Amino acid sequence: MSGLIDIILPLALRDCYTYSVPEGLSIPAPGTRVIVPLLKKELRGVVLREHTEPIEPAFADKIRPILSVVDTAPVVTREQLALWQWMSRYYICSLGEVMAAALPGGLDKRLTDPPKRARKALAPYTGPIEPMHDLSPAQAKSADEIENFWRSGKDIVLLHGVTSGGKTDIYIHLIQAQLEAGKNVLYLVPEIALTTQLTSRLQTIFGDRLIVYHSRFTEAEREVRYKKLSTFHTASADRQNFQLSTNYVVIGARSAIFLPIQDLGLVIVDEEHEPSYKQAEPNPRYHARAAAIMLAQLHKAKVLLGTATPSIESYYLAQKGVYGLVSLTERFGGVELPDIQLIDLKRQYERKEMYGHFSDPLVERIRQCLADHKQVILFQNRRGYAPQIQCMQCGEPPRCVQCDVPMTLHLRPREMRCHYCGYHTAVPAVCPQCGGELKAIGIGTERIEDEIQTLFPEARVLRMDLDTTRNKSAYQDIINAFANHECDILVGTQMVTKGLHFDDVRLVAVLNADPLFNQPDFRAYERAFQMLEQVAGRAGRKGTKGEVWIQTFDPSNKVLQMVREHDYIALYNQQLAERQMFHYPPFHRMIRVQMRHSKQPLVHATATQLQAYLSQIFGRRVSAVIIPSVERVQAYYIRELTLRIESTANMSEAKRRLQEAIDQVWSVPSNKNVKIIIDIDPI
Ligand SMILES: [Zn+2]
Ligand SMILES: [Zn+2]
Repeated sequence: MSGLIDIILPLALRDCYTYSVPEGLSIPAPGTRVIVPLLKKELRGVVLREHTEPIEPAFADKIRPILSVVDTAPVVTREQLALWQWMSRYYICSLGEVMAAALPGGLDKRLTDPPKRARKALAPYTGPIEPMHDLSPAQAKSADEIENFWRSGKDIVLLHGVTSGGKTDIYIHLIQAQLEAGKNVLYLVPEIALTTQLTSRLQTIFGDRLIVYHSRFTEAEREVRYKKLSTFHTASADRQNFQLSTNYVVIGARSAIFLPIQDLGLVIVDEEHEPSYKQAEPNPRYHARAAAIMLAQLHKAKVLLGTATPSIESYYLAQKGVYGLVSLTERFGGVELPDIQLIDLKRQYERKEMYGHFSDPLVERIRQCLADHKQVILFQNRRGYAPQIQCMQCGEPPRCVQCDVPMTLHLRPREMRCHYCGYHTAVPAVCPQCGGELKAIGIGTERIEDEIQTLFPEARVLRMDLDTTRNKSAYQDIINAFANHECDILVGTQMVTKGLHFDDVRLVAVLNADPLFNQPDFRAYERAFQMLEQVAGRAGRKGTKGEVWIQTFDPSNKVLQMVREHDYIALYNQQLAERQMFHYPPFHRMIRVQMRHSKQPLVHATATQLQAYLSQIFGRRVSAVIIPSVERVQAYYIRELTLRIESTANMSEAKRRLQEAIDQVWSVPSNKNVKIIIDIDPI
């Protein structure tokens, strides 16, 4: 009898499917792609393993042969396959769903012959190569401490480094050491940090050994990089085409953890606290930090988590000694941390010392900066002109027709947009409900841009948010213009907080910090601290001390006081106590179960049923049915349940029981079409 193999197919139902290999064909190795018949279709899949267990005679007849083998050598490494398996178990999804996320272009496109245009994207680097900076004594000390932890067997190290402490220099130093030792490196950054500011600097040091990978590449560009890495260690003719003759460092966003890197020596997760490391939609809903740690373990590689504002979870593990902890407190070049001023908006409004949303002292300070030819960053974490339009008669805002959210007012072009689904429509002249007068409520970046331009007509103002950076080069163009001081004032959302360095910025102002704290999220304070600390880090470089002005209605807010003192430890202690008291991570692990259906009564009934089943199993660890603050998105009604399980408990058992309960709900015919989504460790 011919051999049998288990194959991963791009389907959500089962992990793998068994096929036979026709006589005369050798058994393809795990990680090789094959083409198989399924019903009346042909599908491309990846060999998981040889099937060695005996097959029941009743099924043996049903096993069909594979049609052909696509690759001469595996395109998925042994470690990648193991990572996929971990991911499907941990995040409760099928191997096929993981595969669809992991392989560029899914499986429908050819991976073997990248188009010519993509080849051009990998033209050899011809720019200058510069030596690494020497590390400052403080940086060198941190690098030594990190390496000492690794040598002593503590493979995961958290580098808690002050903003502008020069963490990148430390990374470069550690990467160089790995390359010299014949190892490759994976360097993860949040998507937004993949600017040429960082990559071109790395390129001047690593030249062709730097491989950049992110979601703004076309599928073809991503495929050529995938192919380059997967052929690195095979002695195929392709190898010459791709000129990868030495060790390399891959810098990429979240999805770079799926690249077939071999001989991996080190994974760096920069800005490890960033929520963008978590994939929210679709499956697998993985956290790249968790996946990176797993990947490193599979390779017996080291991990470095770096940030100025650690996630509570990571800092907790470092405090407990699970991770090594290295603190870098000195800013590079002796630059001091910025002074932080809190402006009491309540008092300013009472005294009528406001222009629009700018307090008079802030306006004066901006005027002074501009007179001194210094730059200013204005931070407002809402885009658009006004987050809401409200009827002055009935109080209702116009809502999105598909989602249950108020529409945001935009002026360029003048329209209302839904920030959940992108639906946009003309602004009605009067309230659609009652004919009353409509008024813009709250502030977005567009409104700040308008107000500052009216205050300072001579100033050159640019705005950076999702709306102004939609096309590929716009983001980079804005950064370049600001870095070259072709613009005086930059207005932006959290996009402006991410690892950018501008030498002439003296003042950073936060127009209103309060909305950051008023989020319905147990991480709201942690996030607010991280965001404010990151935005404050943009002020003051080389020689001048920066200033940060934060406007707020509540200057006594304890987190704002911690931001003023740059006191992360105080935030950590305060947050940890709350997390423990209210059963949140790191003491409990969370699972969110979301149900979606176009009919509200059905989804609610299903959620109620599942809640009852889960209560029998988990008791008070399961929440009541939650109606989210946005109840309907893109015409689907949503209900949620959360589970909070002690982190000491057996999670795989908990997940198994959860799946059983879901199957039980689904076994009721009317519930079959309710979509149920499981999110492990939701963000
Ligand atoms: Zn009305
Ligand atoms: Zn919508």
